[in-house]
Amino acid sequence: MNFELSDEQVKLRDAARRLAQDQFKDKAAQWDRNEQFPEENKHRLAELGYLGLSIDPQYGGSGAGLVSTYLVVEEIAKVDLLTAMIVHDQNVSPRIIANHAPAHLRQRLLPEVAKGKLEISIAWTEPQAGSDGSAIRTTATRDGDHYVIDGQKVFTTFGDRADLHLVYARFAPSKGARGVGTILVERGRPGLKVHKLEGKMGVRGACENELFFDQVRVPADNVVTLGEPEHSRGFVAPLNIYNGTRVGMGVMALGVAQGAFELARDYMMVREQFGQKLCEMQGLRWMMADMLIEIEAARCLCYKALALVDAGRPDPCLSSIAKVQATEMAQKVTMQCQQMFGGYGYFGLLPLERMVRDVRMLTITGGTTQTQKNLIASHIFGHQGTRA
Ligand SMILES: Cc1cc2nc3c(=O)[nH]c(=O)nc-3n(C[C@H](O)[C@H](O)[C@H](O)COP(=O)(O)OP(=O)(O)OC[C@H]3O[C@@H](n4cnc5c(N)ncnc54)[C@H](O)[C@@H]3O)c2cc1C
Repeated sequence: MNFELSDEQVKLRDAARRLAQDQFKDKAAQWDRNEQFPEENKHRLAELGYLGLSIDPQYGGSGAGLVSTYLVVEEIAKVDLLTAMIVHDQNVSPRIIANHAPAHLRQRLLPEVAKGKLEISIAWTEPQAGSDGSAIRTTATRDGDHYVIDGQKVFTTFGDRADLHLVYARFAPSKGARGVGTILVERGRPGLKVHKLEGKMGVRGACENELFFDQVRVPADNVVTLGEPEHSRGFVAPLNIYNGTRVGMGVMALGVAQGAFELARDYMMVREQFGQKLCEMQGLRWMMADMLIEIEAARCLCYKALALVDAGRPDPCLSSIAKVQATEMAQKVTMQCQQMFGGYGYFGLLPLERMVRDVRMLTITGGTTQTQKNLIASHIFGHQGTRA
């Protein structure tokens, strides 16, 4: 078993750390306050090749793998979860396309993604189909050389700015979950309406959106995976990709927790009360020790799970364990780090207030903690005791 990063990975991580600290840290509060997407950060990430890290070199990426990609994501998440999400998102829909789409889509789309010129949102969740993703009602009905899409999506991240939406739809409504497939819908297609959701708690420079599809016609060439009867792996195939994605959520949480921890550590070495530095008070020292134990445990789980995905042996149970441990840990740790700043931590002048709000989303999106625990329990007991 090898826990060492390669020299290249160390260089990549250190370069990402410098980039995050020197160019992203200072403006993170501004994007949040103004609810603004950090366009300049995205351009910088594209210039440096960070948006094609896990894309195969034949499509213009560097094929670095998920461990390397998420070393970068972790460093950025330490200072700005929003900007880390830009790199993370390049690993979600593009990986589904890389692994499951026909060659003509891979060749056309992936080089543009790697250059940062194409964004693809994931439109899966619907008002009545959240944790139960198989309960979607959106339909894709064949009409000559087109499909006609009808239905509604909710919580589509970056749906307002994405060039394409990867839409989960029922291709064969009578086939239940197995009739679900995925199809790409271009922004601006007649019949597609996008509505931004307001009042978000954290990561406020990224928008979630409702998408309304009213008889939206899309060329049949846009199909990524078909539901049955045309293709028996329609629904199941893309799900494997989410093994990597959900660990990615864990790594983003890990980055926020590590960033908060470092801020608290530095403050505790200068702040004095009762004639003592905070770092000399045993109760607080133990809190920090406990936090470090949790952070390191999450790091081991996440990178082990990612290494298995890179090795072509994804372990769904370990991916769920890593996601739950890291995201739940990060909520606790960021709040405890906020506590170290006393009253100052409660105000938005310090990053802690933003970090506590930002990290909250990660136990929900990408599969909630409870649904991950259901998957873990299924691993323990098989399907006995579940209704699935
Ligand atoms: C910031 C953000 C970004 C998102 N981005 C996207 C996106 O880009 N694309 C997309 O398609 N979706 C996205 N989502 C949607 C997200 O995946 C869903 O919110 C999530 O799957 C939960 O679904 P729900 O909100 O409908 O909650 P529900 O499924 O209604 O769950 C409500 C509560 O019940 C619990 N619960 C549900 N079923 C069970 C069960 N069987 N056992 C125990 N507990 C259970 C849940 O854990 C939760 O606590 C995003 C959500 C958020 C908050």
